[in-house]
Amino acid sequence: MVFSETKGQSQRRAHIIGAGLAGLSAAVTLAGRGWRVALSEAGPVAGGRCRSYFDRALGCRIDNGNHLLLAGNRAAIGYLKAIGAGDTLCGPGRPLFPFYDLATDERWVLAPNPGRLPYWIFCPHRRVPGTRARDYLALTRFRHPSEEATVARILPDGPLYRRLLAPLAIAALNTGTEQGSARLFGRVLAETLGRGGAASVPLYPRIGLSESFVDPALAWLAERGAVVRFGQRIAALEIAADRVAALATADGERIALDPAEAVVLAAPAPVAADLLPGLLVPTSFEAILNVHFRISAHPGPAGFVALLGGLAEWAFVKREVVSVTVSAAARLIEQPAEELAAQIWPEICQALDLAGTMPPVRVVKEKRATVAATPAEDRKRPPAETRLANLVLAGDWTATGLPGTIEGAIRSGQTAAELLSR
Ligand SMILES: Cc1cc2nc3c(=O)[nH]c(=O)nc-3n(C[C@H](O)[C@H](O)[C@H](O)COP(=O)(O)OP(=O)(O)OC[C@H]3O[C@@H](n4cnc5c(N)ncnc54)[C@H](O)[C@@H]3O)c2cc1C
Repeated sequence: MVFSETKGQSQRRAHIIGAGLAGLSAAVTLAGRGWRVALSEAGPVAGGRCRSYFDRALGCRIDNGNHLLLAGNRAAIGYLKAIGAGDTLCGPGRPLFPFYDLATDERWVLAPNPGRLPYWIFCPHRRVPGTRARDYLALTRFRHPSEEATVARILPDGPLYRRLLAPLAIAALNTGTEQGSARLFGRVLAETLGRGGAASVPLYPRIGLSESFVDPALAWLAERGAVVRFGQRIAALEIAADRVAALATADGERIALDPAEAVVLAAPAPVAADLLPGLLVPTSFEAILNVHFRISAHPGPAGFVALLGGLAEWAFVKREVVSVTVSAAARLIEQPAEELAAQIWPEICQALDLAGTMPPVRVVKEKRATVAATPAEDRKRPPAETRLANLVLAGDWTATGLPGTIEGAIRSGQTAAELLSR
């Protein structure tokens, strides 16, 4: 029995499988509407691919990887406000993106104006060096790209592509520009830069991912009577007629659902496919590499810098560590961690004006960081609704219209909750 009964209560109930951001977002939305919620999480903690932990080698807490949000990520920001964590993000407070080219030693700051009218493209000191205002017309090609179009295919090569759009697309899609879907990247652009600089203000957690996205959600849910069972892996769904009648855990427990109880399946795509035979899901993934150096550095104007011309792509200067991200990193996954760190350390010294031998380092390889954001994989992403009357799907891999991101995951949880509330 998952829920404790309160006499006379007839609350609607939902059982959520997976306490990543999609599951937490579904739980928060449903609990906020008065539903009784129970979550089963296979792991020992919540947060899934977006979490913080104490790293023994470094002697401090780190995030599993740098996560950058933009002010236009409305669902994510709404979720944080709902759980009382609206003030846990920080950043430069204005649209500001410092860049450094390791190959040419050039630095510049992309600084869109806050309003919708993009006059920044007419100001040489605000735009990408070596570009002209008319080059930015290329951005309109992302408005209605064909379903098959890739980022590289619809953009002309040149400084705007190499110095801005390619690095942004790789970070947003976690997929190379030759394969990455122009439609998915176009959607990200439309919701951020396309709405003006104010929607492009960079944001990241002041302390850590768990302190922003996970711990406040768990506390908020606990206050509303939600139950979270850690180490409870759902191994099978028992289906009777057109409904999920019970959940079977990997420990052999059977969780019977009452006839009105709904299920949100918010586990990763391969798990969802196992639990629901016949469900079409994306099957190709991309990796992200994060290298955390235990060292202090000057945060610069934004707290991070985008890097070109080397292996490192983004360096975030945090309180106790400098954390470096390489996206679309499947090609690097088999390379030994020490080699990767040794290759990246001199780049970070050059970019952040550091020197000396390499400090303690942790290399985190997330092999299946996100679904590959290619047109072919995008076509496989299922909607939240399923053929079963009381089962809906959530997760960054469902058909959110966005690449695998915090915004997509949180929106998917909200969509799942909306469907159940109808
Ligand atoms: C290194 C890295 C960097 C990233 N950078 C960014 C970024 O800069 N910006 C951005 O917006 N996004 C970024 N992302 C993507 C973002 O983290 C994800 O899109 C988001 O966290 C996915 O959430 P989810 O709930 O859909 O999936 P998950 O986080 O995978 O959650 C699924 C949960 O289900 C649980 N589970 C699995 N099987 C079972 C089972 N059988 N029973 C019960 N529970 C189960 C898992 O343990 C997990 O907790 C990054 C991801 C990574 C890995």
